Amino acid sequence: MTTAILSALPEEQSGLVGRLDHARRVTHAGRAFWEGELHGKPVVLALSGIGKVAAATTATVLAERFRVARVVFTGVAGGVGEGVRVGDVVVARDYVQHDMDASPLFERWRVPGYPGVRLPCDAALTAHLSGAVSACLAGEITDFHTHADGRPPRLHEGLMASGDRFVTCAQVSRALRDPLVAAGHDVLAVEMEGAAVAQVCLDYGMPFAAVRTISDRADDDAHVDFPLFIQTVASRYADHIVRHLLKSL
Ligand code: SAH
Repeated sequence: MTTAILSALPEEQSGLVGRLDHARRVTHAGRAFWEGELHGKPVVLALSGIGKVAAATTATVLAERFRVARVVFTGVAGGVGEGVRVGDVVVARDYVQHDMDASPLFERWRVPGYPGVRLPCDAALTAHLSGAVSACLAGEITDFHTHADGRPPRLHEGLMASGDRFVTCAQVSRALRDPLVAAGHDVLAVEMEGAAVAQVCLDYGMPFAAVRTISDRADDDAHVDFPLFIQTVASRYADHIVRHLLKSL
């Protein structure tokens, strides 16, 4: 039962590769895949690349070539929900593609051919992932990002949105979020890959779960907050969360 651990950026993945036992690097479709054992469990570590198409290709290779049993995404995202702050952690229950619009033929945001606007994550795997995040936040808080006001990082669970756009302006963030919220889709965070992986995993019947640490607020400061977070804390989050998750599987 091999678990695929997907990251978007090398900085998010580096800690995991460093801990891999019996590591074997395989190149396929212009991508590097790392097979091995992490905390005693068989894994494949992969980079999704940035954006939905790159992520869909990686997910397809994981299904077709590596025949993985499940896919877990760990990465960073911009927080758009109320109270979702830098350093907080969001576990996706489901995903929406915020840049999909085939209306009026189909409901806005719905990928034609799929039952609804929301692409669900696997409930059982997601529960394991939430448990792992909670254990991290309870136990290793000092190693995590603590807010300037002393508030510890918090776990949020719910809807995430993906699209081919780095959201780096408050106005764009509102234009993306407000119509979704008005339609009953209270989106917590925005990133660029997860919904594509969710879609491919639905196609292949592969359980999928995703966790994103909030690197920025998808606002006018995002271009400063994002690289800082990536360089300092992102890989530590991935490392802790994946360790707790693999132990629980
Ligand atoms: N030039 C950058 C590009 C990163 S794009 C680099 O290579 O370092 C941002 C990445 O972080 C994407 O993988 C996306 O999933 C996530 N992300 C973080 N904050 C985001 C935001 N505000 N909007 C969209 N994606 C965001």
